[in-house]
Formats: sequence, structure tokens, C-alpha cells
Amino acid sequence: MVEPNPVFTACPFSNAVIAGLRDIAMQRFGYDAIRAEEISVAADQAKLVDGQSRRVTLRGGSVLDYDRLVLAPGIAIRWDVLPGYDEVAAAMMPHAWLAGEQTLLLRRQLEAMPDGGTVVIAAPANPFRCPPGPYERASLIAYYLKQSKPRSKLIVLDAKDGFSKQRLFQAAWEQLYPGLLEWVSQSNGGKVTSVDAKSRTMVTDFATYKADVANIIPPQQAGTIAAIAGVADQTGWCPIDPSSFESRLQPNVHVIGDAAIAGAMPKSAFAANAQAKVCADAVAALLHGETPQPPKLINTCYSLVAPDYGISIAGVYHIADGRLADVGGAGGVSPLDALPDFRALEASYAEAWFRTIASETFG
Ligand SMILES: Cc1cc2nc3c(=O)[nH]c(=O)nc-3n(C[C@H](O)[C@H](O)[C@H](O)COP(=O)(O)OP(=O)(O)OC[C@H]3O[C@@H](n4cnc5c(N)ncnc54)[C@H](O)[C@@H]3O)c2cc1C
Repeated sequence: MVEPNPVFTACPFSNAVIAGLRDIAMQRFGYDAIRAEEISVAADQAKLVDGQSRRVTLRGGSVLDYDRLVLAPGIAIRWDVLPGYDEVAAAMMPHAWLAGEQTLLLRRQLEAMPDGGTVVIAAPANPFRCPPGPYERASLIAYYLKQSKPRSKLIVLDAKDGFSKQRLFQAAWEQLYPGLLEWVSQSNGGKVTSVDAKSRTMVTDFATYKADVANIIPPQQAGTIAAIAGVADQTGWCPIDPSSFESRLQPNVHVIGDAAIAGAMPKSAFAANAQAKVCADAVAALLHGETPQPPKLINTCYSLVAPDYGISIAGVYHIADGRLADVGGAGGVSPLDALPDFRALEASYAEAWFRTIASETFG
């Protein structure tokens, strides 16, 4: 396994860090348990992939040969598409879409903001990492403001007219954060077309918004190594064969997680984990000269609307017409009319899910 960072900082539950409900230490994991499984971990970055000679060159200069290569590079921010938003601007208007320093920066800005301030979140068009993520973030920031800075306002400027678990989120916002949280759809002028970091200003088709704290979640694409390896197409994401997650562009290279175009599956950690298992099974079959069996995959995304208020969406996926599609009637969302006990139970399921996936992955 090649990984440059000695510590992984997980995005799920990082919105709770931003809202001051959780310490970032709880998001951090090392690779010792993986090493203990006798997997050799190269603390280095893949720099080049040569599909012809089946070789990966690392930044440190080592060269690794492969029979099959699995890429799971996550996302890269597209710095070239939103005028005014570059890496320098991100130091003033954090994206906090890669967990770590950016998460803490957004937290500090919220803490420093006076009561009565305006927070703006700009949410991107599809596809992007974690479809419910911007709305969970809005909810938990609203929770923080309601507790600590109740005269403040939160505006979500959206490049879309609809989003994951929308009815559940909006019903909860009406109940918990009336007058505090405003969602502006694309049709109502929500799409941010340019930003000015110095003045913390966002321009949309209809208006200009000035924020005290601005969280810009910009457009994304597959992690940079995907394009270098020749597995990303013109969309910036990676087309795969869903029975094995083998790239449709490069033989013997598999792509899983956010970087892959996985049909109806969202870009989530749960989905990435499910895809990893299917991919491992397929690679084992292929190395034995066998044909991978068509898989069934599942995903569940929990979101917190408040610390004791959880909602979820679940899906089951199979291959239909060469792509991953929903198994009809197999998934669903939390009921719209659930009682507080049910919401509290789902919040505890969310935490249990995170503990389980983290311990399964990092020991
Ligand atoms: C705010 C927020 C909340 C979220 N909440 C949830 C949630 O509740 N539930 C859920 O299921 N998902 C959630 N997600 C989504 C989840 O974080 C991602 O879907 C998941 O991390 C995808 O995993 P991945 O392996 O594709 O990418 P990553 O987790 O980003 O891992 C990619 C790894 O590849 C490494 N890498 C990249 N390039 C190279 C290279 N060239 N050489 C070597 N290593 C490289 C990186 O260092 C990194 O460790 C959330 C995301 C955000 C932003």
C-alpha cells in the first residue's frame, strides 16, 4: 500500500468537529494495524503509472511492479473552474472538504465570528464527494449558532435544485432552525459563479452575498494520479467495469471509491469500503484466471441534523445495462414523521457505523 500521509484524517463526522461537538483527534488513524497484517506500507506518493510496463514510480524514486493495480486516490479540488477560488483563497474561505487543517480553519473562523454574523456555505453541482455532506454541515453549523451565536444567519447557496435527503433535512430545519438557516436553490440564484476571498464575497446569477465566514465547497474530480494513470475520462472521473472495478480505459488497473464512476452509488466512505471488498474479490478471481461474479453492493449514509437527531439513506445496487443501478424497492430514507426517540437512535447508529468502519479499516 502506498500512502504519503502517516496519519489518515477521516471526513465522516468532521462536520461535528466544525460545529465544536467533537475533537479532531477522534478523526485520526494510523497504519500500524495494517502493517501488523504484514501488508507493507510505503510512506510515499505514487507519481507515475506506466500501464504498458505495469509499473508505479513513487515520488521518493522507488519503482513498484504490479500484476494488478488498485487506485483509490479520493478527490482533487478543481481549482480552475470557480473564478477567484484557488489555493490562496481557500486559506480565507475554507472548503473543509479534505479533512484536517481545513476543518480546523473553518472551526476557528466560526468561533471568531461575532454573534449576528452571516455564514455562507456554497454547495457544488453533482457529482461530488458525500452528497448529503453540505446539508449535514449546514445543520450542525446552525446548531452551533443557535446555541452560541443566536443572532447569526446561515445561508446555503446551492448550484442544484435538489439534494440528498432533502425533505428530511428541510423538515428538520423548519423544526430546529427556523429563521436561522436559509437554502437558496440554483433556480433562485444559488449558483456561485465567482468569489472574492479578500472581501469574503460570493457572486451568483442574481445577487452578491457578503459573509463573515464563507465555506466554499468547490467542484471536484478524481485524485490527481487518476489522470496521470490514464484512467480518468473527460469528466475528470474514472469509468469502471462494475463487476471488477477494472478501469474501462486501462487494463489491469482498478479504481474504487470517490474517484470511480459507480453509477447510482454515491461517493461515500461506506460505498468506497463496499467497492474495496468487491474489487479485492474480483482481483483474486482474475489472478486465478477466473471471471468475477456480478456483485451486489450496499450503501448507507447517515447525517446528523443535531447531535441527537440522525437521518439516513440506504441503497442496494446491482449491475443493470453495464452499470451499477438501484435494486428497486430495496433502499429508502428515514421516515418523515419519526418521533424524537427514532431520530436519537439513528444518531447513535451513525456513531456506531463510524466506529465500525474505522476499526475495520485501521484496527
Ligand atoms: C464533510 C464530509 C462528511 C462526510 N461524511 C460521510 C459519512 O457520514 N459517511 C460516508 O460514508 N462518507 C462520508 N463522507 C465521504 C467520504 O469521506 C469519502 O467518500 C471517502 O473518504 C472516500 O474514500 P476514498 O478512499 O475514495 O478517498 P479518501 O478517503 O480521500 O482516501 C484517498 C487516499 O489516497 C491517498 N492518495 C491520493 N493520491 C495518492 C497518490 N498519488 N499516492 C498515494 N496515495 C495517494 C490520500 O492520501 C488518501 O489517504 C464525507 C465527506 C465529507 C467531505
